[in-house]
Amino acid sequence: MNVLNCEIENRPYHEAFMREAIDMAELALKSDETPVGCVFVRDGKVLARGMNGTNISMNGTRHAEFVALSQILAEHPPSVLQDTDLYVTVEPCIMCASTLRQFRIRAVYFGCLNDRFGGCGGVMRVCDDPSVDPPYPIYGGIYREEAIMLLRRFYVQENEKAPEPKQKKNRELKTEILPVTVQIPSPQLGE
Ligand SMILES: [Zn+2]
Repeated sequence: MNVLNCEIENRPYHEAFMREAIDMAELALKSDETPVGCVFVRDGKVLARGMNGTNISMNGTRHAEFVALSQILAEHPPSVLQDTDLYVTVEPCIMCASTLRQFRIRAVYFGCLNDRFGGCGGVMRVCDDPSVDPPYPIYGGIYREEAIMLLRRFYVQENEKAPEPKQKKNRELKTEILPVTVQIPSPQLGE
């Protein structure tokens, strides 16, 4: 199964929440954070929002999912996650994918693959490989192009701020996005 091309029932419902995750990623971009955003949704309502916060906190674990999870766990028992879905602009990394599984998240919807650190198919399949915790289903590719463009805008923006031009100088914003059937040179998360 190609996780980026899966059938998603009632797609507009899920797209609406992914739109809210993209709004959070936009906010991250404005805050000079790697633009990854997420929302956790329970009973059709947003339970918590998160955006990547690793730069401001200087804490590499402050991924969007962890930021939102902290809010949820401050207010609810962990069991609420069993009927909660996650919408995140970029595939959860191995750390987040594992944590989500231990908390028994119901399902994960994401935009683009994370081909350096992905835990839901990009690099490993922590979501449903053999393990003691029950697996969770994943649905990728929702607003994938926008998720990729956010990351590209970030790397161009960061490069322009660099005090000395590096080898990557004059990097231009590429707008071409190849279809998912082709091996994509997708943007790298972190340097
Ligand atoms: Zn993560």
